[in-house]
Amino acid sequence: MQRVRLVVVGIVQGVGFRPYIHRLVTEFNLKGWIRNESYGVELELEGTSQAIEGFVARLKAQPPRLAVIEALRVESCGALKNYAGFTIRASEKSGENNTLVSPDVGICEDCLRELRDPRDRRYRYPFINCTNCGPRFTIIRDVPYDRPLTSMGAFPMCPECETEYRDIENRRYHAQPDCCGVCGPRVSYLDAAGNPVEGDAIALAQACLSEQGIVAVKGLGGFHLACKIDQEETLRKLRQRKHRDEKPFAIMCASVDEARKLCYITPEEEAQLTSFRRPIVLLRKRTGTSPYLSENLDLGVMLPYTPLHYLLMEGFDALVMTSANRSDCPVMYDNDEAVEHLQGIADGFLVHNRDIVTRCDDSLLRVFDGQAYFLRRSRGYAPQPLFLQEDCTGVLACGAEQKASFALSKGRAFFLSQHIGDMKNAETLSHYEGQIEHFQRLFGITPTKLVCDLHPDYFSTAYAQERCEREGLPLVQVQHHHAHMAACMADNRLDEPCIGVIWDGTGYGTDGTIWGGEFLEGDYAGFQRYGSLRPIPLAGGDRAVKEISRVGFALALDAGCPELYPMAEGKKKLLTQMIGSGLNSPKASSMGRLFDGVYAILTGREAVTYEGQGAILLEAMAEPCEDAYPVTLEEADGVSWFDFRPMVREMFRELAENLPAAQLAAKFMNTLVALARVQCLAIREKTGRDKVVLSGGVFQNMYLLPRVRDTLTEAGFQVYHHHRVSANDEGISLGQTMIAVKGGGQ
Ligand code: ZN
Ligand code: ZN
Ligand code: FE
Repeated sequence: MQRVRLVVVGIVQGVGFRPYIHRLVTEFNLKGWIRNESYGVELELEGTSQAIEGFVARLKAQPPRLAVIEALRVESCGALKNYAGFTIRASEKSGENNTLVSPDVGICEDCLRELRDPRDRRYRYPFINCTNCGPRFTIIRDVPYDRPLTSMGAFPMCPECETEYRDIENRRYHAQPDCCGVCGPRVSYLDAAGNPVEGDAIALAQACLSEQGIVAVKGLGGFHLACKIDQEETLRKLRQRKHRDEKPFAIMCASVDEARKLCYITPEEEAQLTSFRRPIVLLRKRTGTSPYLSENLDLGVMLPYTPLHYLLMEGFDALVMTSANRSDCPVMYDNDEAVEHLQGIADGFLVHNRDIVTRCDDSLLRVFDGQAYFLRRSRGYAPQPLFLQEDCTGVLACGAEQKASFALSKGRAFFLSQHIGDMKNAETLSHYEGQIEHFQRLFGITPTKLVCDLHPDYFSTAYAQERCEREGLPLVQVQHHHAHMAACMADNRLDEPCIGVIWDGTGYGTDGTIWGGEFLEGDYAGFQRYGSLRPIPLAGGDRAVKEISRVGFALALDAGCPELYPMAEGKKKLLTQMIGSGLNSPKASSMGRLFDGVYAILTGREAVTYEGQGAILLEAMAEPCEDAYPVTLEEADGVSWFDFRPMVREMFRELAENLPAAQLAAKFMNTLVALARVQCLAIREKTGRDKVVLSGGVFQNMYLLPRVRDTLTEAGFQVYHHHRVSANDEGISLGQTMIAVKGGGQ
């Protein structure tokens, strides 16, 4: 017989951990106690060493579905205390708020079975849930996580639900959102004008969808717009009404088998699709899948994740499920707001009376190397912390501007916000500020240091500056691409000087110009710029981001062959003047803009409808080949610049010879792969660094990412990409936080 103490760190609260432990100690005939501690639980166990070993092995191998065990420590204690049974103790450090808030969880198998079982008292009840599934983050107003402090507070439990809630043997033990048809929320259906319609709400919604209507559906973290996918007419109507010109629509498929009819799915992708986090997974489209859904190679697919979705999907194989928002505003989450702003867009509304407290968009990821590679880490993940190597207590990282996010830290726990959106307007800004306050309250964090981008015009910078001034707090400003680099280092738990290949849209440089095609060397404390792209003039500034022919022409002009670019002479003259005078023509060493310009040259396309579309379409059109253009570098100011002018001239020559643009697209990207190799070799020569981190939005490109990784690995580098946060600006707050703690930035 022996007595041991177990410390389990990770997501082990609010995930049915104590009932699970209760069952396990009974099985192994152990005695002792358990209590919640900061970011974990502590237990004492008495029993035979064999039983204790068996218990620990099982806990490691089969933790509860929603638990994430970051660390497990077993210490042997002194003399036996001869505990009589197993008890749940109150936390010792009362007062300190160290609870973790669980992300929202997709419906579990048990609840799904009950939902479909005519003998179950929750048969076809759209809000069925249990300790293992259901809404969490999106319904919590405040901590402690108790029903009155959630939007379920409006629904007192009926005696039957209450009995389940109190029974430690029951799957609904301490499940705060537990409810049933007697005591819980209800669905209703509203017509296009927002008037309630009598009858079975779900059947009414299905009828509207069947007639090729568009229905606004209230989900977990906000509203979706749903419609059928089988008629182009309907998809066109939705695009028209939503003013969503070309961005791909996400779809919800009734099952993996249905998804397989539209896309190719690997076992790893299937695992992501069916995970309880239920992200949208980008899957390779089959030929014949409507281009009106997505003009790219991929289609974003998710499975139903609420009981309401399952009931709604009974009539359909697949539905478009695109988030409902006014242009550039956060996703809608309130019934009245939806009815008001979706007039003329939705033909009907499937709503319910459980309030969404916190907006949370669907997460978006793809599988790379068998693992999740995030494009948006949001519902199902937020606000679950990442655990860092450093104590970063009190740091508030304010993120960037596009794909905005923020993060608060306490101890080693790093609380990254959900997707906030592009901070272009007052609505998004107020959502951002509100969520910072919400996170501070939920996790009991009072910021003591703020860190933001170097860009003087970002909303997030202004927020940080004002707040620091008001509260007398220190502010650290971090160069955008240094933050990307540090984010990828921290993502991989690196803490030593590395090379950073940071390819991005745009970011403010230390010299006040726009950067974005960077080769950096350094660590959290600082960096050096070793390489970049020859700056590209953006005639008209921001206008050139969507009107990509302006960038295409600028490349031709720079390469000395403006006459080869197909464009009206008058416009050429105007752009040439603008670029020549430098008036409203900022220069950008941006990989994202280089992609836009090359795409415009290859296709003659005039404009795109969203930033980054050129790069996405170039990737989609590329026909893989081995050829590359020569990599030409020019040295100036201690930086090695990629001189793409010879490449551009060669491209025009090849286009004139009618070489297929699809091949040239691949040849262009192969050139970038070669560029990465040449530059990293040169930096290794100078600095001896042999670890390379890959970050920035351009590394969402799945043609580039594996090829850059492979060529660098082959050259003897250790290469790292993102795993836990996105490569795009959403992940930047991770780098900002580490830099602020390790003395970097300015
Ligand atoms: Zn469940
Ligand atoms: Zn009930
Ligand atoms: Fe960026």
